[in-house]
Amino acid sequence: MVRLLRDRGISDERVLAAMLQIERHLFVPIPLRNHAYDDAALPIGEGQTISQPFTVAIMTEALRVSEESKILEIGTGSGYQAAVLSAMGARVFTIERIPSLLKTARTVLESVNARFVAKTSDGTVGWKEFSPFDGIVVTAGGPGIPKPLVEQLKVGGRLVVPVGSHEYQQLKIVTKTGANNDYSVEDKSDFKFVPLIGRDGWPESDG
Ligand code: SAM
Repeated sequence: MVRLLRDRGISDERVLAAMLQIERHLFVPIPLRNHAYDDAALPIGEGQTISQPFTVAIMTEALRVSEESKILEIGTGSGYQAAVLSAMGARVFTIERIPSLLKTARTVLESVNARFVAKTSDGTVGWKEFSPFDGIVVTAGGPGIPKPLVEQLKVGGRLVVPVGSHEYQQLKIVTKTGANNDYSVEDKSDFKFVPLIGRDGWPESDG
């Protein structure tokens, strides 16, 4: 899997090392484990997915994680992305809106000794108590850039967020440039994510 990521252009050795270290099969439902190292998103229940490894790698690379970075993840899902961030030395804060997914993810994350704090909530409003963050990664696609997430970034921090329609989203890398919430945006490729449901995402009825 990691060889394939390298062939597809992922060059950050720290990201590749973390993805080599974290065993993806632990985060995949048992009946699907023989596909755990395919470069594919897989169902994890509740209509949600563990993201494709290439997507995880691109998003993690875009965050520019360093040791002790404080990273907020919106959409814990299986816990795989959080485990990769923790393996890179980040302090991970992760929010999932579906309680049963977080319960399973928490057990797996504890079993791999990940350093994380998690809660069930609407992540589009962020986690003010632990802000400001060096980086924020949103692993579901919404209609716009959630304002609270920009507010909760450090100046110079990066928000990686898929934005677009229900059908496809463009990955945006938002860099906060000033204390008054100014930011610049770099557009990456198009992806297909599950919907970001919440106050600054799609309405509940779209879930
Ligand atoms: N990072 C996950 C992983 O490694 O498995 C990917 C999970 S999946 C692609 C996206 C997740 O975002 C889903 O579990 C979904 O329930 C969650 N989600 C959607 N809207 C959310 C919100 N407003 N707050 C928190 N989680 C949300």
